[in-house]
Formats: sequence, C-alpha cells, structure tokens
Amino acid sequence: SVEIRGVNKFYGPFQALKDIDMSIAPGKVTCLIGPSGSGKSTLLRCINFLEEYDSGEVRIDGQLIGYEAPGRKMSARKLRAMRRSIGMVFQQFNLWPHMTAIQNVTEGLVRVRGMKKPEAEARAAEALNKVGLGDKMGNHPSRLSGGQQQRVAIARAIAMEPRLMLFDEPTSALDPELVGEVLTVMKTLAAEGMTMVVVTHEMGFAAHVADQVAFMEKGELVGMDIPDRILHQPEDPRIQGFLRSYH
Ligand code: ATP
Ligand code: MG
Repeated sequence: SVEIRGVNKFYGPFQALKDIDMSIAPGKVTCLIGPSGSGKSTLLRCINFLEEYDSGEVRIDGQLIGYEAPGRKMSARKLRAMRRSIGMVFQQFNLWPHMTAIQNVTEGLVRVRGMKKPEAEARAAEALNKVGLGDKMGNHPSRLSGGQQQRVAIARAIAMEPRLMLFDEPTSALDPELVGEVLTVMKTLAAEGMTMVVVTHEMGFAAHVADQVAFMEKGELVGMDIPDRILHQPEDPRIQGFLRSYH
C-alpha cells in the first residue's frame, strides 16, 4: 500500500503540493488527473522520493520513504533499496540507444539486482514476451516504434518485480495510433493485480481501469473517488470545469 499523509512540497516560495492525503490499496489502480501544473508529477515523484517532500509522510507498505524520522533523511543506500521495489515509467522512454531491447531490460537486473547474465536474460525475455515484444528483442530503440519503445520501458520495470508501478503520462509522447497498445499492456498488469499509480490524460483508461481517480488542481487534492463519481458526476465545480474544457 501507499499512504500519503499531510504532504507539502515547496519550490522556493511556491507551494507545489498542499497537504495531500491519499491512500492506495495494494492491487488497486489510482489515476491522477488535473490541469497542467497542478502537481500530478510532483506527487507521483514524491512516492519514490525522486522529489523530496518538505513535510508529511509517504509510507510504502508501512515504511516511511526518504526520511528515517521527521526532518532526518534516510541514507542513500536505504533509499535505493526501497526504490528497488518501485517501478517507474515516464513519458519519455529513457532507453539506452546503443543497446537492444533485451539488453535494455537485462542491464538493470545485472547491475541493480546482481543477477547472473543468463538468468537476467531469461527474465528479460519473459518480460518482453509479456508486453508482446517477443519478436523484437534484438532491435535497438531506433528500430522500434514509440509504442514498442514504451513497452520495452514497461518490460524493464516489471522485470524487476516491483510491488508498485508509477506511470507519468506514459502515452503522452505517442502518436495516437500507438496509444492503445501501451494501454493494453497496462490493463493486463492491472488485471494481474499490480498496484499502479498513473498520471494520465486518457479519460477512457481512467474510467475503465482505475479503482479510484484523484483530481488535482493548484497543488491540492480536490477530490478522490471511484471513477464514475469523479468523471461522470463530479460535485466540485473545479472538476466539472476541467472535464468540460476537455471534451
Ligand atoms: P503537467 O500536466 O503539465 O505535467 P503537473 O500536474 O505534472 O503538470 P508538476 O510538474 O507537478 O505539474 O508541477 C507542479 C507545479 O510545480 C508547476 O507549477 C510547476 O511549474 C512547478 N514546478 C515543478 N517542478 C519545479 C521545479 N523543479 N522548480 C520549480 N517549480 C517547479
Ligand atoms: Mg506532469
């Protein structure tokens, strides 16, 4: 589970997150939506402490991330160990251009997990098969479509067997015709019970796959509920306004 309690985040004088409380149950999919600049990426990055929050708590399966205790930072080693159980997929795929798909997936398993090469390659092949790229394992990123590159990035994350996956607009950089194949892979992961937090503009995905949808605006969590109550019958005028401007 992820428990976010009273999280505040400042960039200088600017407050990017305002007293955020959020609970993410194991095996559930939470979508974060809201206008540009509302703090979605900042919140997502606080969950794996890529972004340091200033006060409040983020707990992963009960364990505080980033701090040993309020005001006292966690060691880099301990933070790395915690991050190992959290996969992240970005808008930009961040693949190594000089490596093939399978090398991209194998690399982390060898370097971070200390796996032996043959074992890592077997695991990587399994992950690539799972995202439908069994026949593209030898391709370099330049020989893959955007959707395929993003699926390699997802394979790279799931090969590490994370307990939690964070996605920041994973389909926003893709041509429209390539969005579906990536969402399909994400749906499969969700159906298998992966805990996922997904920043997205794909309202169809949020409506059909999310267990809960959180709407953010100006650093505040304005509402969080089952998809239908946020996307189809929101009470808050800020959510209504956002959804109107969307269609
Ligand atoms: P988008 O939909 O455009 O990705 P977002 O909801 O993900 O937006 P964030 O990237 O979390 O928004 O940014 C929230 C606010 O914090 C914005 O006003 C942004 O300008 C500000 N911000 C983000 N990163 C920094 C930074 N490194 N330094 C200063 N301000 C920042
Ligand atoms: Mg963002």
